[in-house]
Amino acid sequence: MQQSDHIKLGKELDLFVQSDVVGRGLPLLTPKGATLKRILRRFIEDEEIKRGYEYTDTPVMAKSELYKISGHLEHYKDSMFIFGVRPSTNSGQAEEMVLRPMTCPHQFIIYKSRRRSYRELPIKYAEIASLFRNEQTGEMHGLIRIRQFTLADAHIICMPDQLEKEFENVVDLIQYVMKCLGLTDYWYRFSKWDPKNKEKYIDNPKSWDESQKAMKKILDKMKLKYDEAENEAAFYGPKLDIQMKNVFGKEDTIFTVQIDFALPERFDMWYEGADGKKHRPMVIHRSSIGALERTMAMLIEHYQGAFPVWLSPVQIKVVPVSEKSNTYGNKILEKLNETGPCLPAGRFRCEIDSSNETLSKKILNVQKEKIPYILVVGEKEEKDRLVAVRSRVGDEGQMKLEEFIEKIQKEISDKK
Ligand SMILES: [Zn+2]
Repeated sequence: MQQSDHIKLGKELDLFVQSDVVGRGLPLLTPKGATLKRILRRFIEDEEIKRGYEYTDTPVMAKSELYKISGHLEHYKDSMFIFGVRPSTNSGQAEEMVLRPMTCPHQFIIYKSRRRSYRELPIKYAEIASLFRNEQTGEMHGLIRIRQFTLADAHIICMPDQLEKEFENVVDLIQYVMKCLGLTDYWYRFSKWDPKNKEKYIDNPKSWDESQKAMKKILDKMKLKYDEAENEAAFYGPKLDIQMKNVFGKEDTIFTVQIDFALPERFDMWYEGADGKKHRPMVIHRSSIGALERTMAMLIEHYQGAFPVWLSPVQIKVVPVSEKSNTYGNKILEKLNETGPCLPAGRFRCEIDSSNETLSKKILNVQKEKIPYILVVGEKEEKDRLVAVRSRVGDEGQMKLEEFIEKIQKEISDKK
């Protein structure tokens, strides 16, 4: 069967819109699309907090000075939005501001805000961060290549002897996330620098040599199968990329893990060791569920819009057989709304179709929307206090509402 891409499906299923007047690469999520994004965000926040991450909340912009320190201005300038703030009447000087392309410099400033002891490490700062990239107009594509995106970002600041364990923990988290999302068609890529490309990378061959060796050693020890790619590293360090293909067969990186020996030095980060002396920490940059928009695109294409129940923007549609049953239908809806909490996104997401369309038309509409469950209610169901359940598989017969709730709750918690 011909697979649709996420732009076509996104329109059909009312998940996002694109507008020339807003600009290219700036998709607008509708309530349903925003619901899907919220589910992913809550899921990953809960999971990361469980795994010892601490959440920060930092500004989406900073003075360009910050990005001078990090090296972004030198190696990443073409991809950044740089603008001036109106001059203050006193000094008459305009400050140059940057919409952040990455979260790292902001979180490093928090790390540096006080003395750190080796006892505190590893520190794992996470943030669901809005980031900005000035992509070329021709490169923009749906939710995959965009100018503003939301990265489930984190930086693990650790001692050298903690690096291996922390790296393994990150890969374990990524594998868990992929399993929950039902995405199995992915592979690993070890992305290295190119010593000849002076413009793209921080020029410190010794630190590149060390960080690449460290990463290769960990990957081999973990027995991960990976491809190697030259000239695909971040400007500050090598990456382990998690690669997938979209419906057109185009390869994309969806998550990355990076080992960084360079930025701790540039930011003069240190901790006090057991010996009372100053030591340089190492940093792992990583995304766990990637840029939420890009992950949404992959999910939309993978499931062709028919998401598992836990990810469905609408999980249940109550369909009264005729207007006579609207009151009973609304009672069922009320009961569903009272049930919860139902993790990871609060209560059931349910709607009712109380229009005067025929039953078959109403059911056809729900099927087009790819909602996993339909509860048909008529006079007979009302008399017996039942609901008639229809899923994507077909007719599942009549049952008590409590029975249905138990069944769907289990499906949600199992992430089936
Ligand atoms: Zn980073």
